[in-house]
Amino acid sequence: MCTFKLWQKLIPILLFIISTNAYAVSASDVSLHENADIEAQLDQYLLRFSRGESKLSELEQIVSQVTPNTPILTQTRARGYYILTSINPENLDESWRLAMEILKVAEASGVIDAIVDARTVLVSLHYYGGNTEDALVELEQMQRYLDHVASPRVRYFAHNLAGRLLRSVGDFEKALAHFLLAANAVRETDDVLTLRRRLFITEGIARVQASLRHYDVALNYANQLIDTAEAEGLENELARLYLFRGYLESMLDQRENSIHSHELAITWGRQFGADEVVLLSMNNIGSSLMEVERYEEAQSILQEALLEAQRQNDERTIHLLNFNLSYIDVMLGNVGQGIAGIEDAAKLIRADVADAEYVDVLKYLADAYTKAGMLERTIEVLKEQRAMQQALAVKERDKALAELQTRYRANEQAAEIELLEQRNQVQEGDLVNARLQQRIFILLSIVIVLASILLFLAWRTARQANLRLKSVNLELEYQSTHDPLTGLLNRRSFQAAMNNHQRQSDARIEGRHPDALLLLDIDYFKKINDRSGHAAGDKVLVEIARRLNKVTRNTDMVVRWGGEEFLIYLREMDPGHLAEFTERALHILGSTPVKCGHRDLVVTATAGFITLPFSGLNEEELGWERCLQIADMALYIGKVQGRNQGLGVMELMVDFEQAQEALENDLTGAIEKGWVRVVHIAGPNV
Ligand code: GH3
Ligand code: MG
Ligand code: MG
Repeated sequence: MCTFKLWQKLIPILLFIISTNAYAVSASDVSLHENADIEAQLDQYLLRFSRGESKLSELEQIVSQVTPNTPILTQTRARGYYILTSINPENLDESWRLAMEILKVAEASGVIDAIVDARTVLVSLHYYGGNTEDALVELEQMQRYLDHVASPRVRYFAHNLAGRLLRSVGDFEKALAHFLLAANAVRETDDVLTLRRRLFITEGIARVQASLRHYDVALNYANQLIDTAEAEGLENELARLYLFRGYLESMLDQRENSIHSHELAITWGRQFGADEVVLLSMNNIGSSLMEVERYEEAQSILQEALLEAQRQNDERTIHLLNFNLSYIDVMLGNVGQGIAGIEDAAKLIRADVADAEYVDVLKYLADAYTKAGMLERTIEVLKEQRAMQQALAVKERDKALAELQTRYRANEQAAEIELLEQRNQVQEGDLVNARLQQRIFILLSIVIVLASILLFLAWRTARQANLRLKSVNLELEYQSTHDPLTGLLNRRSFQAAMNNHQRQSDARIEGRHPDALLLLDIDYFKKINDRSGHAAGDKVLVEIARRLNKVTRNTDMVVRWGGEEFLIYLREMDPGHLAEFTERALHILGSTPVKCGHRDLVVTATAGFITLPFSGLNEEELGWERCLQIADMALYIGKVQGRNQGLGVMELMVDFEQAQEALENDLTGAIEKGWVRVVHIAGPNV
C-alpha cells in the first residue's frame, strides 16, 4: 500500500518534468524570478486597492515598466493584476486575450510558479464570467502544478481563489483545505499585505463555517476578524465584517447583539461609503424588530432605510421597504391604509423578485389579511403560497441534481484533457527519438514502462472512481428520499411511492378498507422559533417526528411534507377508526410538552384528513393529489376555527358531478350545503 502511494506521487511528477520542460523553483530561488522594485510598487498598489484608494492608471503605470526581459514572476503578477482589475463582466474577450498571452509567456519560461500564476487568472476569469464548470476544470488542471509552487504569494493567490470557488459550489471540505493551505502560504510572508491576506482567509473560513450552519464557530471567527481589523487599523473592512457578525448573531437568535452589530455596520459603512452594507444593515435591523413585534422601532429604522434606498435609487429595496412599512401599519391598527399599501407593494415586488423570495412576501400578506379580519383573502393567499412552495421544492431538487452532474462532468473533462496532453507528449517524444537512433531503444522502453504504469493507474483510478460513484449514489439515494433533520421520508419519495401505488391500484382486492391521508400542521410554530430559538424549533420537529412514528403502524408512511407540516399515509384504515386515530395523534402531540433544555414547550397541531379512495371514487375521478388538497382545505378550516383540532372529510352525500367544483375550490360551501359528511375532532385541553 505504501509503495503504491509513493508511485502515484512519483510518476506524474517524473512525466511532467521529462515532457513539459517545466521546472519547479526552489524556495530560495523565487526572488531570481522577481524584480524587487516593481514587486514593491505592486505591494503598495494592492494595499491602496484594498483600501479603495487606488486608480487603474497607477497600475497601468506599473505595467508599463514590464518588458519581455522583466523576471517572469513579476511579469505574470503585474499583468495578472491588470487583467483582474480592468475586468468588464459584460465583455471578457479582451481580458481573455491578455490572459492567454501571459499564459504563453509563462509556459515558455517553464517556471511552474509563473504557469500557476497565469492559470489562476484563467480560473478567475471563468469564475467572474459565471462559468463555474469551466472554472472547476481549469482549477483541476492547475492543481497538478500547485504542489510544486515555491512562491508564497502565488500559492496564496491560487489557494484562496480555489477556496472561494469551491465554497460557492458547496464543496466545503475541499474549500476549507484550500483556505488552510492559503493560510500556510501567508505565514511564510511578512510584508505590507500579510495582515490583509490573513484577514481574507480567516473570513473565507468563517463563511464556509457559516455555510455549514456552524454559526457559533463562524461567530468566533467573526469576532477575531473584527478585533484584528480594529487593532490593525483595517477600518475599511469593518462595515462588511459587522454585517457578517450581525447575520450570524441573528441566526443564533442573539437578537440584541445582532441589532448592535448592524448598527456598527451602519456607522462604519457610512464612514467608508459602503452604501450597500448600510442599507442591508438597516433592513436587517428592521426585520429583527418586526420579528419580535417591536413595530414602532421597526417603523422608524425602516423609514430611515427608505430614504437611504431612495437616495441610492434602489427600486427593489424601495418596494420591499414600502411593503414592510405597510405591514407595520396594519399591525399597528392602521388597517385601511396598510392593506392598500401592502397590496400595491406586493404587486411591484412580484414583478421583480424570484419566486423563492416572493413566498415570504405572501406569508406576510396572509398575516396582514388575518390581522385585518379578511379571512377569505388569507386562505386565498395561503393557497397561492402553498402552490408556489410546491413548485419551488421541485425546482430546488432539480437544481441540486444538475449541480452534482456539473461537478461530475468537470472531473471527467479534466481527466480527459490530461490524457490528451500526455498522448501529445508521447508523440513529441517519438519525433526526437527518431533523430537519436541509439537512444530510441532506451526511451521507448521507458515510455512503454511508464505508459503501462500509467495505464494501470488510469485503470485503477477509473475503478476507484466507479466505486466512489457507487457509494455516492447510495448516499445520494438515501439523502434524496429522507429528510435530514427528522429522518422521516421526504415529500419526493412519498410522491414516488404514490405513483407506484397508482399503478398497482387496479389490482387492488375487493373488500379491503381504503387508505387514508392525514395532514398535520404545527400550531404557531413560528412563535416557538421566535421565543426559544431556531435550534429549539428543530428539536421540537425531531420530537414530533418521533411521536408520530410511535403512533403509527410500520405499514404506514410518515412524511415531512414541508417545514412544520407532516403527512401520514395510513394503509387500509377502517374509516370507522380514522377519527379515533386522529384524536390519538393530536393527543400524543399536544398533551405532553416537549422538553427543550429547561423549558417545557406545549406543541399542538391542526389536522385535516380524508379516505383514499374517497367515497369509492376511482383514481381518474379523484386521484391522491386531489384528495390531499381536500385534506389541506380541511386543515385550513381547522386553523381558521381556532387550531388544535382535526377535521375529516369522510363521505360524499351527493353525485360527484354535482360536488366536484365545490370539492376543488370551496370545501366550506360543500360542508354547509351538506354535500359531504365531515367529522370534527377536538385536540387535547392544554
Ligand atoms: P400556524 O398555526 O398558522 O400554522 O402558524 P405557524 O407559525 O405554525 O405557521 P407558519 O407557516 O407561519 O410558520 C412556520 C414556521 O416554521 C416558519 C419557519 O421559519 C419555520 N420552519 C420551517 N422549517 C423549519 C425547520 O426546519 N426548523 C425550524 N426550527 N423552523 C422551521
Ligand atoms: Mg405551515
Ligand atoms: Mg404551522
